[in-house]
Amino acid sequence: MICLLLALFAHLFPAAGSGVQERTFLAVKPDGVQRRLVGEVVRRFETKGFKLVALKLVQASEELLREHYAELRERPFFSRLIKYMGSGPVVAMVWQGLDVVRVSRALIGATDPADALPGTIRGDFCIEVGKNVIHGSDSVESARREIALWFRPEELLCWEDGAEHWLYE
Ligand code: ADP
Repeated sequence: MICLLLALFAHLFPAAGSGVQERTFLAVKPDGVQRRLVGEVVRRFETKGFKLVALKLVQASEELLREHYAELRERPFFSRLIKYMGSGPVVAMVWQGLDVVRVSRALIGATDPADALPGTIRGDFCIEVGKNVIHGSDSVESARREIALWFRPEELLCWEDGAEHWLYE
């Protein structure tokens, strides 16, 4: 109930959901699931200190993927991307914390793994842009749209974070 109210509040007042309440949408792509990288990805966000709000294994429909990547529909690789993302289950997640959208992109690394720095997920675990293991929202606005697309409000759990006191000043 509280989560539903928070979701409604964030929808009505766009500034809400910022600061420690900021959320991002992440997905371990089908290659990441097949290559048993789910635990490694979760570990990196968990040990960083971010808070897991939702997680599920999903076989995404073509309709969902076309909507998710709507901005890229004119790109030459679009149909390949939709096929790749639908080629097996993905692990869809919502993570929360201060600057989580921007910091997650840094932890993930550049879109093309050849440009991704060692120490980032894409820098450490993949080679080609068409098999780059993980998705992360690129802005707070995209995060809101993607979370609403992949999750029902009641799937986002509110829970007391006992570590928050040790993570934030
Ligand atoms: P990001 O995932 O880093 O936000 P984009 O939004 O630009 O990057 O692209 C979405 C996804 O499309 C990429 O993660 C990658 O899987 C795929 N992609 C991007 N560029 C190419 C390309 N040139 N060839 C094949 N796939 C691509």
